[in-house]
Amino acid sequence: MTPRASITRRPRWRSLAILALCLAPLLWPLEHLAERYYKSELVSQNRQTLDLYVANLLGTLHRYETLPQILGDLPALRALLAAPRNAQAILDANHLLKDIREQTGAEVMYLLDADGNTLAASNWEQRDSFVGRNFAFRPYYSDAVAGRLGRFFGLGTTSAKRGYFFAAAVHDQDKVIGVLVVKVDLDHTETLWGKTPEQLLLTDHNGVVILTSRPEWRFRATRPLSDNERQAIVSILPYPTRDPQPLNLDADAWLTQTRTIAETGWNVSILAPKTLLDRPVRTVVAVGGALLLALMLLLGLMMQRRRHYLQRIEFEGRTRHELETRVVERTSALEGLNSKLRQEVLEREQAQQELVRAQDELVQAGKLSALGTMSASISHELNQPLAAIRSYAENTEVLLDHERIEDARGNLKLISELTGRMASIIAHLRAFARRDRHALESVALQPALDDALALLAKRRRAMAVELIRDLPDAPLWVQAGETRLRQVLGNLLANALDALTEKANPRCLWLSAEQTADGVELRIRDNGPGFTSEAMARAREPFFTTKTRTQGLGLGLAICDTLMRALGGELLLSNHPQGGALLILRLRAGEPGVSLQAPEDPSA
Ligand code: ADP
Repeated sequence: MTPRASITRRPRWRSLAILALCLAPLLWPLEHLAERYYKSELVSQNRQTLDLYVANLLGTLHRYETLPQILGDLPALRALLAAPRNAQAILDANHLLKDIREQTGAEVMYLLDADGNTLAASNWEQRDSFVGRNFAFRPYYSDAVAGRLGRFFGLGTTSAKRGYFFAAAVHDQDKVIGVLVVKVDLDHTETLWGKTPEQLLLTDHNGVVILTSRPEWRFRATRPLSDNERQAIVSILPYPTRDPQPLNLDADAWLTQTRTIAETGWNVSILAPKTLLDRPVRTVVAVGGALLLALMLLLGLMMQRRRHYLQRIEFEGRTRHELETRVVERTSALEGLNSKLRQEVLEREQAQQELVRAQDELVQAGKLSALGTMSASISHELNQPLAAIRSYAENTEVLLDHERIEDARGNLKLISELTGRMASIIAHLRAFARRDRHALESVALQPALDDALALLAKRRRAMAVELIRDLPDAPLWVQAGETRLRQVLGNLLANALDALTEKANPRCLWLSAEQTADGVELRIRDNGPGFTSEAMARAREPFFTTKTRTQGLGLGLAICDTLMRALGGELLLSNHPQGGALLILRLRAGEPGVSLQAPEDPSA
């Protein structure tokens, strides 16, 4: 993977998380909105409940509001007011009030005289009957006496039940002769409130709770009471306590809605715990969070897909570009190779032409070389017999001067033989150049060796070379040609003498021969300087020579090697461990015979 690719492939989840963190504050307004929504829902719902409750309460009160006034005109009650001690009138009034109470559903109805003493009551026959009791201390009494409709909330002094009292004066002309009171039960309006999480709170003009769905709040003051209010409470005893304890409500914990009932001076409140809002708001926030998360995931997924898509496009582009570059490179390489090939073909053709030309030249040079080699060989090989002829001729001259005719004749015979051999050498060389083959014959080695030594005798003696022979007496028969064998031996012996010229006395030449399993082995050893390493490697090459003092053509060993191979033998060159050269001739054994004269000699 390239570093560029690794950068683009780096996961984007971190940036997504950062984005999510940035978007998370969005949940706060969402929470706020949800809170507002659910609050308004709750408020409108509670408003309805409150309205319903207030309507119900007012309905209950209105139902009894006018009753005291109407009842005050009933003749039976008036009769009692006129004769308060009349037992029958009391009985009639009691019955009447009880009947009306039963019909109207009020809690209690009773008739007070002008001083506030109860003359008759609907509960006259009950244990907690009001009859005989004085209620002049109650404000509704004073209100009624003053000509107003008496209204009062209070706890029944005997029943200990909460009730609302309506009172109206009974007049005779303009004179107040009595007061009729109707008490309405309010306890039951409290029980109307079901077991809902919302709470009811009804406070009177003192701010003291008189009706509530929470019993522990009952008769507690929702606000601090003034001294006057406290005194009034003590004097009129509307509550079971003379000193209402404060109700400390946590305003933050409740959602409060209040409605004022002007005619009673009451405040009806509905208190909804704010925790009611928590759950739906939390749900909304959770859903919002989940949605946000899902959105993030979706976004992440989309981003990832987009990145993959872009990466793929980039990768494909890169691959295409690489491919194109490679194609261009390959094309140019191929073109280069093509032109190189064309160049090579051209060079080959030129080389071919040059080769043909060189071959032609070589053929020509070969011809010239062969010609040169042959003429050189002729001059080389004829040198020895020529020198010998000259020597014999000079010697003959001396012999003739001394009239030694027979010796002179012998010399002339030798000269004749030598010219014959020269002719034979020339014939052989010619035949060799023409690649003619002569049949081999059995030749005795010792006479050929003697012959070769004889040609060099004069030179050997002049150089005082000691000849050490180790040859068997019996002739060693080898397969060869007479002339060729003599040529080889002559060359090798002449080389030995040449080598010995470079050395002071004593100069020695060892000759040894023996019959071996394969044939005949002749060793020619001298105590000269021996072959130099270069001469050892190249001595058989034509025209290789190291000779400076004597004139060497470098053909001797080349001719010997060729002749030996033609004879089926071999020539080995070496240096003797004690110094000097050692040349070994290996020849195939020949059939023992009697021939002393070479039959291949054309001069014979
Ligand atoms: P040439 O005699 O004309 O130099 P040859 O072919 O006969 O040519 O010999 C080649 C070389 O081999 C000589 O120049 C000489 O260095 C080396 N060589 C031949 N025979 C001997 C020998 N007996 N001892 C030392 N070196 C020899």
